[in-house]
Amino acid sequence: MNFEAHRDFSVKLDNDDPLRSFRDQFIIPHHNGKDQVYFLGNSLGLQPKTARTYIDTVLGQWSDYGVEAFFLGDDPWLNYHDHLLNPLSKITGSLPTEITVMNQLTVNLHLMMVSFYRPDGKRNKIICEAKAFPSDQYMFETHVRHHGLDPDQTIIEVKPREGEQIIRLEDITAAIEANKDELALVLWGGINYYTGQLFDMQAIAAAAHKAGAKVGFDLAHAAGNVPLQLHNWDADFACWCNYKYLNGGPGAVGAAFIHERYHKDPSLNRFAGWWGYEKNTRFKMEKGFVPSATAEGWQLSTPSPILYASLRASLEIFETAGWENLQDKKEKLNAWLWFLLDELNRQQNAQVLECITPRQEKGCQVSLLMLQKGREIFNELTAKGIITDWREPNVIRLAPVPLYNSYEDVWHFYTTIRDILIKP
Ligand SMILES: *Cc1c(COP(=O)(O)O)cnc(C)c1O
Repeated sequence: MNFEAHRDFSVKLDNDDPLRSFRDQFIIPHHNGKDQVYFLGNSLGLQPKTARTYIDTVLGQWSDYGVEAFFLGDDPWLNYHDHLLNPLSKITGSLPTEITVMNQLTVNLHLMMVSFYRPDGKRNKIICEAKAFPSDQYMFETHVRHHGLDPDQTIIEVKPREGEQIIRLEDITAAIEANKDELALVLWGGINYYTGQLFDMQAIAAAAHKAGAKVGFDLAHAAGNVPLQLHNWDADFACWCNYKYLNGGPGAVGAAFIHERYHKDPSLNRFAGWWGYEKNTRFKMEKGFVPSATAEGWQLSTPSPILYASLRASLEIFETAGWENLQDKKEKLNAWLWFLLDELNRQQNAQVLECITPRQEKGCQVSLLMLQKGREIFNELTAKGIITDWREPNVIRLAPVPLYNSYEDVWHFYTTIRDILIKP
C-alpha cells in the first residue's frame, strides 16, 4: 500500500474501511465535547454499548429468581461461562475445552505455577524475560520463595544485548539450551508491555520442550491483539487478562489456557475449589475432589455473571467483526501509523523519535522514545484529547486498535506532533 501524508488520504482510508461502523458499538469518552482519540486499548479497552444491557439482564435475573437464577430462566448462570469459550478459542487458537475464564491474571499465574512449576532437585530454574511486568516479577519471586528456593539462584532473566532494546530470539533459545539440565519452566510474555515486542512463542515453546521444561505464556498484551495458536504451538498453559485488548471492563475476569493433554492427568498438582468439581455431581457436595475433565477443572470459586456479562458483550463484537478482518485492519492501521512516524523523522533535520517496538515483531502497540520535545509533545497530545501514556524516562506508548480507532485518529496524532516540531 502506498500511503500519502495528507488528510484526504486518511479520510479515504476510513471510507474504504469495512470495519468502520464498529466504532459506533463503543462508547468513546469525550474531551471538550468531542470524541477523544483514545489510544489506550492496551491498558483498558473501551466500553461496548451492549455491556450495560448485558449486565442489566443479569441484574434482572437476580431480581426475578434470586439464587435460582443459576438454574432457571432462558440463560441460567450455571452455563454462562459457555458463552465465552468459542470466541476466546478463536482469538487464542485453543480448543474451547482448553480455556477457563476465572479470577484475574496474577492469581491465575500463581495457580498455573502450582500445576506447572514443579521444582525437582536441581531442575528448579525458571527462565523469563528481563523487565517483565512488575506483577509477574513479584509472582515469580514469591512463588519461588514458597518452594523454599532463593529467587536470585532460581530465576534466570534474559535481557536485550548492550545498547539494544529488544530481546533476540537466539538469546532466548541459547539461555534455554545452556540451562537445559536445570530448567523447570519457561514463562514468557507474548508481547512485552513496555517495548511492544512480540515474541516467537512457537519457537520458545519448542526450545523449552526440547530442554525438558514446561512452557507458559502471559498474554496480557497479546490476547485480542495478535493471532495466537496456543494449541498448535503446544503451550502447556497461558494466562491473560480480559480488560486490555478484549474490552471486558475494569478488573474484568481473567482467563487461562491449559493444554488438553493435562485435563485428565492426575499427576498434576492443583489448588482446587468447588467450582472446578465435575459439573453433573458438583451439587452433591461429596468429599474428595473430582475435577471437571476440561480446563474448567481449575476453577475455584463461584464466578460472577455480572463480570462475565461485560466480557460477553465485547466478545460478541469480535465474533461479528471476524478475527481475520480485524487482523487485516490492524495491519493496515499500524502501517499507516508507522508511515507517518517515518514522515516525522524525515521532515526534520535530526531524528525526532525512535521506535523501540520492532518493525516486524509487534501488535497494535508502538513505544516511542522521544528524542526532541518529548514531554511537551505528550502534554499537547493530552490537551487535545489524544490519549496515550508516558513512561519514564522519555517514552510515549500508544495502541491504535481495529475495533474503534480510525485512520483519522492516527492522522490527528501525527499532525499534533508535526505542528509542535515546526514551531520555532
Ligand atoms: C496488565 C498486566 C498484568 C496485570 O495483572 P492483573 O492481575 O490483571 O492486575 C500482569 N502482567 C502483565 C504482563 C500485564 O501486562
